[in-house]
Amino acid sequence: MLKTSSGAAMTNCPLIIIADRSETGDSGCLADKCMMWRWSEPAPLPEWIPCDESGALTPSEDPPSPMFTFVPYDGSEGPAGWREDDDSAAARRQGYCGLAGEPRGGE
Ligand code: SF4
Repeated sequence: MLKTSSGAAMTNCPLIIIADRSETGDSGCLADKCMMWRWSEPAPLPEWIPCDESGALTPSEDPPSPMFTFVPYDGSEGPAGWREDDDSAAARRQGYCGLAGEPRGGE
């Protein structure tokens, strides 16, 4: 089953349950901090949302979410807009625990 790192942390790791049960009681998957973790895809590109005013130099509207930064129109490239922060885009990347092999369709 594909999961984001934060989603995987909400599941139990069978190895941690066996090895660490008596110590902390925390058996959550370590996701990309574990050597068994495998990414299923490259990191997604940040989302881009153009502004209503394509030539805006300052934002005239609120960001679509706190994870977006305003990019003003600079005359050389595309219109002004909102760019998703790299950390936010990276948090959408999905992977899986390699212990059980690569997931197939529907898993
Ligand atoms: S990736 Fe697999 S082995 Fe690693 S912590 Fe998560 S469930 Fe456990």
